[in-house]
Amino acid sequence: ASDTRLYQPNGKSPLQIFVRAKKKINDIYGEIEEYVLETTTFINALHAEAEIVDKAERELFESYVYKVAAIREVLQRDHMKVAFFGRTSNGKSSVINAMLREKILPSGIGHTTNCFCQVEGNDGGEAYLMTEGSAEKLNVVNIKQLANALCQEKLCESSLVRIFWPRERCSLLRDDVVFVDSPGVDVSANLDDWIDNHCLNADVFVLVLNAESTMTRAEKQFFHTVSQKLSKPNIFILNNRWDASANEPECQESVKSQHTERCIDFLTKELKVSNEREAAERVFFVSARETLQARIEEAKGNPPHMGAIAEGFQIRYFEFQDFERKFEECISKSAVKTKFQQHSSRGKSVSGDMRSMLDNIFERITIFRNLKQDQKTMLTDRIQGTETQMMQVTRDMKLKIHTMVEEVEEKVSKALNE
Ligand code: GDP
Repeated sequence: ASDTRLYQPNGKSPLQIFVRAKKKINDIYGEIEEYVLETTTFINALHAEAEIVDKAERELFESYVYKVAAIREVLQRDHMKVAFFGRTSNGKSSVINAMLREKILPSGIGHTTNCFCQVEGNDGGEAYLMTEGSAEKLNVVNIKQLANALCQEKLCESSLVRIFWPRERCSLLRDDVVFVDSPGVDVSANLDDWIDNHCLNADVFVLVLNAESTMTRAEKQFFHTVSQKLSKPNIFILNNRWDASANEPECQESVKSQHTERCIDFLTKELKVSNEREAAERVFFVSARETLQARIEEAKGNPPHMGAIAEGFQIRYFEFQDFERKFEECISKSAVKTKFQQHSSRGKSVSGDMRSMLDNIFERITIFRNLKQDQKTMLTDRIQGTETQMMQVTRDMKLKIHTMVEEVEEKVSKALNE
């Protein structure tokens, strides 16, 4: 029973915060799009019939249609991104596989990941991969084939291979989490390129360490560079291969507290990305290989401990689940803030611009009407009719836009608060 306490595949995952916010913002933008289209038709009519609106204004208004469509497109593609770093063989691929509950990424001897690998959900039922600069979809039927495909491709170390995996096979992929595995930080001198190309939009970074050794300079340097380029990146530290500590139970606790202290110091004093309390919640002692084995057993209907490698399985397994829970909370909150706050402020500014433009047009129509009233004799019935109709439509439009802006503001702040 305690297994399900921490991980609830069908229960409420913190990732739902992001999923729900995305849906809400998307619905709001759907409404904005409708209003913009409707208003554009009206503006175009004003331009054609009475020249109250000039060409430049009409074009400006049309540009809102494209702006809103562009934001909607970006919104569709928004996801939560987590990137994994650490030395070769510390277990980065194994951690990703354990989280995905399936051996998707090749791991182990001969399968060193020598380029960036991104795993993302795919709506169709098929699995395939795509290399950078090619539109060809290479079908992936099994892990062996994927490993071979990755080995055969002559890939530059900072290039990206995207692996599309059926969403329904993993709840994290279904909820829009994208995983990025990196070549070992020990193999590259191009850390700047790595960060610029793959990290700037990451919501969470996971440093995978080998609990059997201490953090290296290369590992530290990488995160120093990251925190220079990004303000306060979210960093989790996994001391992996913790199953090995079972062989030396007498020094387990002292090793653990030593590692913990070093990791917390690194996050708080060196990188200055978190305070003590937060940092203590970001350091974990796990065994990725064991967790993956346990989950594969679970999928077969067996108890998870059948995947145990050493004594103390249950504690390590809980710790992995605890990491996942805190990771999910962190990534979904961070992604909502960084991604959607931007969309909502853009949406507000577009609707604000439209509102002032319509106010302006409304004023001009009033002046135009007064002017015409002074020259009543010259008026034909047709113009009079058009004017009255125009006043009515403009008033309606203005009211609609005002209500819309208020509604958008209210909905957006509600969604963000939630
Ligand atoms: P990467 O190069 O960082 O992606 O490392 P991999 O995930 O490919 O792992 C390297 C090797 O270490 C593989 O043979 C894994 O099975 C093994 N490994 C990974 N995590 C663990 C762990 O927690 N415990 C043990 N005993 N072996 C692990």
